[in-house]
Amino acid sequence: MPDKITLGADGALIVPDEPIIPFVEGDGIGIDIWPAAQSVLDAAAAKHGRRIAWLEVLAGEKAYNETGDWLPADTIRAFDEHLIGIKGPLTTPVGGGFRSLNVAIRQIMDLYVCLRPLRWFQGVPSPVREPHLVDMVIFRENTEDIYAGLEVSSGSPEAARLIELLHDAFGWEIRADAGVGIKPVSRFGSQRLQRAALNYALRRGRKRVHWVHKGNIMKFTEGAFRGWGYELVREEFADVAVAWEDCGGDPGDKILVQDTIADIALQQVLTRPAEFDVIATMNLNGDYISDALAAQVGGIGIAPGANINYVTGHGVFEATHGTAPRYAGQDKVNPSSVLLSGALMFEHLGWQDAADDIIAAVEATIGDGIVTYDFARLTEGATEVKCSEFAAAIVDRL
Ligand code: NAP
Repeated sequence: MPDKITLGADGALIVPDEPIIPFVEGDGIGIDIWPAAQSVLDAAAAKHGRRIAWLEVLAGEKAYNETGDWLPADTIRAFDEHLIGIKGPLTTPVGGGFRSLNVAIRQIMDLYVCLRPLRWFQGVPSPVREPHLVDMVIFRENTEDIYAGLEVSSGSPEAARLIELLHDAFGWEIRADAGVGIKPVSRFGSQRLQRAALNYALRRGRKRVHWVHKGNIMKFTEGAFRGWGYELVREEFADVAVAWEDCGGDPGDKILVQDTIADIALQQVLTRPAEFDVIATMNLNGDYISDALAAQVGGIGIAPGANINYVTGHGVFEATHGTAPRYAGQDKVNPSSVLLSGALMFEHLGWQDAADDIIAAVEATIGDGIVTYDFARLTEGATEVKCSEFAAAIVDRL
């Protein structure tokens, strides 16, 4: 019987054997990648005696065409009621009143963690020599920082007022023709993200957690993020984790927590990837690092992602690329990003067996040289197949 996923008293999800999961097909190539991904997810679930009762909900162009609304309240309600959902890419409406539909969903539902695991799959073309050393999980803060949308445009009355206020209250000189953005980073917002990263490391047996920040320059936002992170380790996680400076780099059985300045982190994830494991960082840094790391392991066509609130139990899993409109409807592009986001969703639901099967089957398919155009053009001797054929090849290998 189809049933809703609920949150138990202990904060863990209670997942029925046939959960109702709302999905947004997505705009552009959503029409190609979603059915492909769904076929693999259904087959992997069935292999373990489970089913998903998919519930289509609308967002983006399809929603606008059918309801006149880019992000209908019914869609948010469905994600809210069913706790867990998945979505394809969405067009950013031009002048639609939204900065981005993805950002709107994250903010309305307070999905404060953007989770991006990054690892290499055997056979995936990569620009680096040792892509197998990349096995990192990024926890990017989703609700604060310069991305919070607190911006006023150059020349506007709002900008003039803010510039005047900052001058009068703090003596700050800001050029009259400047656009101004505000960068809030709170203890609450930082520590709930850092707590999620530490709990994840604990659950998954990960050994290191890095706070990545630019606190040497932005002392009271990014520097504070660093400080609050260590405070959290000492106050809530002392029995299982230890800061580098409290153990001289020798954590024993505990998780080692350290921090790295963002610019050097971007260099080191490339030159010394084996030293990074779980990374927790603020919104903007996280955006850069996730895509830089995705490039090392095959690009955004294969990188999965999720937006999660670990307290309320809500999670929206999503393709990390955009709608690639020029390929829409051609049954051509790589469905791996949304498919692997589905596998990540299975993991999150406790369906580790089905998630592992999907990952093994994706790896076997690519290992057999069966790939979509994006990998085919970078892989000598590979067989280029359509999006749907790639999914069918994965199902064959499940
Ligand atoms: P994009 O849709 O991600 O496409 C950029 C390029 O990435 C494509 O031309 C293609 O490169 C490659 N690519 C993307 N998805 C792929 C896939 N599944 N398989 C293989 N290659 C893939 O970025 P965009 O063109 O900048 O943005 C288009 C629209 O998407 C915009 O409206 C933007 O706002 C929106 N967007 C949405 C999201 C989201 O929903 N999460 C994220 C980003 C952008 P090649 O042509 O080189 O093969």
